[in-house]
Amino acid sequence: MGLDEDALEYHEREPPGKLEIATTKPTNTQRDLSLAYSPGVAAPCRKIDENPDDAYKYTAKGNLVGVVSNGSAVLGLGDIGAQASKPVMEGKGVLFKRFADIDVFDIELEHSEVDAFVESVAAMEPTFGGVNLEDIKAPECFEIEERLRERMDVPVFHDDQHGTAIISGAALLNAAEIAGKDLADLEVAFSGAGAAAVSCAKFYASLGIPHENITMCDIDGVLSQERADAGELSEHAEPFAQGVPEGELADAVAGADVLVGLSVGGIVSPEMIRSMADDPIVFAMANPDPEIGYEEAKNARDDTVIMATGRSDYPNMVNNVLGFPFIFRGALDVRATGITENMKVAAARALAELAREDVPDQVVKAYGDQPLQFGPEYILPKPLDPRVLFEVAPAVAEAAMEEGIARDSVALEAYRERLEA
Ligand code: NAP
Ligand code: MG
Repeated sequence: MGLDEDALEYHEREPPGKLEIATTKPTNTQRDLSLAYSPGVAAPCRKIDENPDDAYKYTAKGNLVGVVSNGSAVLGLGDIGAQASKPVMEGKGVLFKRFADIDVFDIELEHSEVDAFVESVAAMEPTFGGVNLEDIKAPECFEIEERLRERMDVPVFHDDQHGTAIISGAALLNAAEIAGKDLADLEVAFSGAGAAAVSCAKFYASLGIPHENITMCDIDGVLSQERADAGELSEHAEPFAQGVPEGELADAVAGADVLVGLSVGGIVSPEMIRSMADDPIVFAMANPDPEIGYEEAKNARDDTVIMATGRSDYPNMVNNVLGFPFIFRGALDVRATGITENMKVAAARALAELAREDVPDQVVKAYGDQPLQFGPEYILPKPLDPRVLFEVAPAVAEAAMEEGIARDSVALEAYRERLEA
């Protein structure tokens, strides 16, 4: 059977969908039921009424994330609307549960308007320990996240913006290490200046790439000062055009150390790869077809091309599942009020450091016995590596505590051991 038929059968098999609610306390006796519901339930209600933080003590809030979408920018499918996006949001719930034991309510909202969307999500704050915004189109996604981050006292995280930035950022830290280049010296060219590219560029700046070393290109070429002055650029991309001369993608790529593709498949040529600096880093992440094919880029030159893509059939897949489950795990476990830039940087650094460690046999086996050793073909840990949880969640929790946005604290060693158990 093909993938489509298999997927339909998988989703249709009884019970339909991929998630269900499970009870976590006994429900066998009359007494149990009077504790779970009326009249016993009044006692925890009164406690929470007196002290709202007791919601974390007496309800499932602290381990519950809302995966919220309006279905306006679904991976590979576009604006398919709220209802049709439900399998994706349920799937995100599966990943949260499988990788970090976090429970999810998937919430599909029929709101294309920013105001209505923001009001609806903000009103759900009592329910959730965190909110993962998903598959919302640009530019609305920027304003929605910004306003909700201000309004809400729980973490709000738009995974399509930050996930790719964090994972590819980790890959960039390691690629630079392998190429023997300092972050402060890297010249970075972007093919694409959309939602994903802008959030990656901003995050790379947080990791230490000088802002002025980043050049972005869209369908009309380099984002230049001239185009900024003509008012052609979005407010989010505009800062990267400061002082940049006009040109085409090929001009931006020539001499660059890093090419980041977040645009469309097939628009980068082997000549462009040849025009780059020594041991170039090429992250061609357009899906399903990268800006340039893996072999084509590798074979374009004699020195080492350090290559990553968004595909699972080549080394170094930039996959968001390496991030969101563990970032939320760490944030929830210290009851963080948000997910800050420092927490994201901590996650990227933890991922990068983990890839430099020896890989356990069980992980090598899970990936078909291909050699997994730090180097050009292995710059990111594998999602099924259980150590990702033990490394990333404590790093994020630690960053939240250091920043003073944790409402609870954990002793890091004990926390790590708890995660490993
Ligand atoms: P987006 O907001 O629509 O941005 C697309 C960007 O690509 C725009 O700047 C657009 O230019 C530019 N572009 C489109 N066609 C082009 C062409 N023929 N030549 C040069 N530039 C062109 O989309 P997005 O959400 O940022 O996603 C962009 C790509 O990255 C998609 O392929 C997506 O699948 C991929 N992606 C991969 C990952 C991953 O691997 N983990 C994660 C996120 C996104 P204009 O602005 O001028 O139209
Ligand atoms: Mg998504």
